[in-house]
Amino acid sequence: MNDCCIVGGGIIGLSLARELAGRGVKVRVLARGRGADTTSWAAAGIFPPAPLHAGISPNHALTAWSDTLHRLWSTDLEAETGIDNGLLPSGGLHLARSAAGLERLRADAARWRAQGAAADLFEARDVMACEPALAAGDGAGEILGGMLLREEMQLRPSRHLDALEASCRKRGVVFEEADVRQFVVRGTRVERAVTATGEITAGTWVLAAGSWTGGLAGAFGLPLDTRPIRGQIVLLRLPRPLITRIINRGLSYLVQRPDGRLLVGSTLEDVGFDPTTTPDTVTRLLGVVRSLLGELPGSVVERSWAGLRPGNADGNPTIGRIPDLDNAFVSAGHFRAGLHQSTGSAVLLADLMTGHPPHLDPASFAPGRPLPPEGTTPPESTADYLARTAAACD
Ligand SMILES: Cc1cc2nc3c(=O)[nH]c(=O)nc-3n(C[C@H](O)[C@H](O)[C@H](O)COP(=O)(O)OP(=O)(O)OC[C@H]3O[C@@H](n4cnc5c(N)ncnc54)[C@H](O)[C@@H]3O)c2cc1C
Repeated sequence: MNDCCIVGGGIIGLSLARELAGRGVKVRVLARGRGADTTSWAAAGIFPPAPLHAGISPNHALTAWSDTLHRLWSTDLEAETGIDNGLLPSGGLHLARSAAGLERLRADAARWRAQGAAADLFEARDVMACEPALAAGDGAGEILGGMLLREEMQLRPSRHLDALEASCRKRGVVFEEADVRQFVVRGTRVERAVTATGEITAGTWVLAAGSWTGGLAGAFGLPLDTRPIRGQIVLLRLPRPLITRIINRGLSYLVQRPDGRLLVGSTLEDVGFDPTTTPDTVTRLLGVVRSLLGELPGSVVERSWAGLRPGNADGNPTIGRIPDLDNAFVSAGHFRAGLHQSTGSAVLLADLMTGHPPHLDPASFAPGRPLPPEGTTPPESTADYLARTAAACD
């Protein structure tokens, strides 16, 4: 393979571009907007612990491998570009404010320990000792206990994307703004893409267009359910950092950046391709901050945004060659873990594209694998996750 065109300039497309360019492939990245328009930019950048353990599912194996790769990439990217992507093993504190919540935390802690992760259960006073700022929250009296996952990490998506783009450019990757509308296929080969302004030819094609991949893959007869699931975030600027761990309560979380910024998330909304924030949600997220940290004099709401997570039908992203086509590949459907799984996804697909033995069995990610029967929702799928967690929203 000497030249490759990747449709998609989010974390999945850029990570693959970097990996392929590092292997000597001439890479072009086509994207509709700039980095800040991607779901990847909008993400929180939380990496839960990802230990390798017996009986691990293919999806978790991809996360575990990616987690290891992130530590290496982070160092390499900084050496290569001078950009620190903010990868930080800050730990994550998960709170319970009901007896049922406490029960769930106990079960979660047992599950994490069985997988080999460090999970400490805390009583309320230990929670306050761990993060004293929580004592100021309106709901401080409601915190019944917590679980500390010491290996939980955070990464700053915008900086990571900047570092990837800079690394790609150093490796000769060419970036082009283009809105791909369809593809022209001749026999078993994709010949060219038709964009809003013209046509582009390439020897090899990769679809890495996040939630929009399903629509593009339809041109190849590939059924791909990358249903967009909206997530909203509010960013506050505090005079100084107040917490050190990521604070999780149900589906809500606070991520403290060392420069004082505090990211508050999020939502899981099945509302189609609508990337806007809603006043109700922004108000609710600010209420989460107040209930956890109290009134914050001197803090300002810097901005709010929403992103569209690319869903999947069976819990696994789709990574590999598109059936019946010799020169077209896909990497999409990473739902809530696209940042975390980006490194492993890039190396896995680059291995498949360049004929190297893959580190993971790619079967569970193969495009065209049998989809779950209609009406069923396998564990870990987007639909299952939405159904299970709807009630847990704050
Ligand atoms: C609020 C929120 C919080 C999140 N938090 C986390 C987290 O803590 N940890 C984590 O691991 N993940 C998180 N995620 C999930 C993660 O953001 C996604 O899984 C990931 O960003 C998907 O990356 P992607 O590259 O596939 O898609 P995107 O980032 O959406 O990129 C898609 C790219 O395709 C381009 N494109 C689309 N259609 C076309 C077209 N027709 N022609 C040309 N270009 C096109 C777009 O312009 C864009 O460049 C979060 C997501 C949200 C919304």
